[in-house]
Amino acid sequence: MIIEAAMNLILLFPDDFSGDGMVRLTGRRKDHIQRVHRAAPGDELVVGVAGGNIGRGVVRRIDDEAIDLAVVLDSSPPPPLDITLVLALPRPKVMNRVVAAVASLGIKRLFLVNSWRVDKSYWKSPRLAPENLRLQSVFGLEQASDTVLPQVELRRLFRPFVEDELPAIASGTTALAAHPYAGEDCPRDVQGPVTLCIGPEGGFIEQEVASLERAGFRPVHLGPRILRVETAVAALAGRLK
Ligand code: SAM
Repeated sequence: MIIEAAMNLILLFPDDFSGDGMVRLTGRRKDHIQRVHRAAPGDELVVGVAGGNIGRGVVRRIDDEAIDLAVVLDSSPPPPLDITLVLALPRPKVMNRVVAAVASLGIKRLFLVNSWRVDKSYWKSPRLAPENLRLQSVFGLEQASDTVLPQVELRRLFRPFVEDELPAIASGTTALAAHPYAGEDCPRDVQGPVTLCIGPEGGFIEQEVASLERAGFRPVHLGPRILRVETAVAALAGRLK
């Protein structure tokens, strides 16, 4: 299957460099540059190196095997969003989209966690393999013209994570649990770092909301519309930052 995703920036990795300031691209990125950008020698593309600067790449040569670019990497990537996201593991197809969206939004730390209403079969999905999580993150960065990959961590047990790990993760941050039935409105434009929990498609159960409260999280709502997980991630990120 051809995966077509917008590539507003060509993300480069150390292995792509063939010499000083030169990169050689094959595979998905070469195909995309040829089919979508319809680039020819002399054309300029936006490029960025994973974890580092962004800049321009001038196409020097295209043949059947590869595209050679001369690159200058002289600008910083966009600033990160100061949100650590704790997300109940969504169904695998949705998870792919959410991980890409998380990367596009500039969130740099994502915990995918279990919760009562997460179907156990989701944890067996091959989409949870590190290579896929990384690929979805790359799609998100290419879309958003960023270079810094989010750190994605899996936690298969809700309780030990929330009781033993989450208080330290949330320490010094505004800690919020998105819950449609919360009494408090979600704040806007929060200064400083935020740790945000978002529930599964069926929502958090009340015991989980209580555990999150004990870990220092305030349950907050976004109004009367109950949003899909991927919509909630974007709406909350936009509202909080
Ligand atoms: N019926 C479910 C419930 O009982 O919570 C709805 C779950 S919603 C599809 C998935 C998650 O998105 C929720 O657990 C919550 O974290 C977040 N969410 C969606 N709409 C929300 C809203 N209006 N206010 C706060 N959180 C919301």
